[in-house]
Amino acid sequence: MSKTIRQLWRDEFYRDGMCILCCNTGKVQTTERMPGGYKYGVKAPCICPNGRALKTGIAMQAQARR
Ligand SMILES: [Zn+2]
Repeated sequence: MSKTIRQLWRDEFYRDGMCILCCNTGKVQTTERMPGGYKYGVKAPCICPNGRALKTGIAMQAQARR
């Protein structure tokens, strides 16, 4: 049986009232630069409620600009 994203988040990434992916900021940023200039990682909205709200807000702003 597969879990919903919310269940997965609550089981794996939620500790003591804090989202451990984004520290409740709603943004996940793991981008780093290796010696030599190679960039890796991700910069994206989190899967937690804060991140979902942020993503919805971004989508609404994008629509308003049209
Ligand atoms: Zn989060």
